[in-house]
Amino acid sequence: MTIRYKTIKEIKNMISHKEISNKELVQEVYKLINENSHLNAFITLNEDSSLKKAENFDNNPSDSSLAGIPIAQKDLFCTKNLRTTCGSKILDNFIPPYSATVIDNLEKAGCISIGKTNMDEFAMGSSNETSYFGNVHNPWGENLVPGGSSGGSASAIAAGIVPAASGTDTGGSIRQPASLCGITGLKPTYGRVSRWGMIAFASSLDQAGPMARTAEDCALLLNEMCSHDIKDTTSLDENIPNFEDDLNQSLKGKKIGVVKDLDLASLDNNVVEVYENSLKEFVSLGAELVDISLPNLSLSVPTYYVVAPAECSSNLSRFDGVKFGRRSQNPKDLEELYIQTRSEGFGDEVKRRILIGSYVLSAGYYDAYYKKAQQVRRLIKKDFDEAFSDVDVIMTPTTRGAAFEMGSKGSDPIQMYLEDLFTISANLAGLPAMSLPNGNIDNKPIGLQIIGNFLDESSILNFAHMYQTKTNWHMLTPEGVTK
Ligand code: GLN
Repeated sequence: MTIRYKTIKEIKNMISHKEISNKELVQEVYKLINENSHLNAFITLNEDSSLKKAENFDNNPSDSSLAGIPIAQKDLFCTKNLRTTCGSKILDNFIPPYSATVIDNLEKAGCISIGKTNMDEFAMGSSNETSYFGNVHNPWGENLVPGGSSGGSASAIAAGIVPAASGTDTGGSIRQPASLCGITGLKPTYGRVSRWGMIAFASSLDQAGPMARTAEDCALLLNEMCSHDIKDTTSLDENIPNFEDDLNQSLKGKKIGVVKDLDLASLDNNVVEVYENSLKEFVSLGAELVDISLPNLSLSVPTYYVVAPAECSSNLSRFDGVKFGRRSQNPKDLEELYIQTRSEGFGDEVKRRILIGSYVLSAGYYDAYYKKAQQVRRLIKKDFDEAFSDVDVIMTPTTRGAAFEMGSKGSDPIQMYLEDLFTISANLAGLPAMSLPNGNIDNKPIGLQIIGNFLDESSILNFAHMYQTKTNWHMLTPEGVTK
């Protein structure tokens, strides 16, 4: 009995019917990691402790909701006594003394944290090519990128190694790799999931979320990830529904906003066809399509690339060779210690962001760039508020195309930044959004994005689950196996 490509729901059944012991399950995960080491999806493994936890579940069966479920954790979450690098050389020796709230919540629910997944350095990137620990490969094609920055998490799920992983999304880092690897991933409402213990990139945009094969599994994970956390001042003290309960609501009469202002002409014809086919599928499930306008959508990429670097330049000032991680050897004074540590420890993309961020925040340019970007951000949020007075969810393609070749966008950062054309606006507005597989282009998967209203993850999950009960895209694997 193998757990390869199985969902959480299926693995839970296997455990409860004693078709596999918890220990055998975890052993198989490590075997799969070894057999797929060419994917480079993991930076650090947690084998001894995971096997011990599994044996413990065998000896003392638990009825916690996710007891014994193996999960991969993005290497951006602090994990107590387990190396946490954030994909950077500057943290390659950092062992946190505490775990992020998300990790604690998942482990309390019984998840076994198998290891830490590879990612773009400090979550800056869309292809996993900025990681200090090397590129992650997409299991759908040897030289294809998995997307980023949660590329290791997406690749490990798409290869069927683990049923689930944690991810984080500042401008698309859960949804874009989910789209490129053919899996399902959700970025919750800003504040729904605690950011405590997440290594900060852009604090007003960062949000952790679940990545899995199905919307149903994302609901199971989100149930456990969410909590009101007094250690994160932006954590929302709101009712947390049981996200599993609403998965099967009928879509009859529900309204899907279709964005008139999307520049579909600039997309590959196949992407448009795949997108339009999914809209038809939702109509056949009873939903109605409503044209909506988001007039400031085209400003989301430039707005993000002022706000995110500004926040990153401030957040990353804490990596100075004094408090965390690496320290350069033999500096002649304190200033040289800072300069050398940061010059040696950060990669090029991170340095580019720090430079842009410091520039847009500088006295002479603050009003022209940072203040202006904050004003446009407000307008983008207002567009969504108006649209959601008429519709339940909004749908767009997740990405402009399927997975691209490694190295093909490296020389032009703007091309890479445009990967998040459709995903960034949800972060700027703080809204929940998901990507789920909705087609295949030249044997490469692609995703549909569903954006929901503030705190309404339930509607997104309901739409996605109903779609997955009617279609098979989420069960397609790189080996062509459709269950
Ligand atoms: N690709 C975007 C960036 O590089 C988004 C990254 C993210 O969501 N962490 O900033």
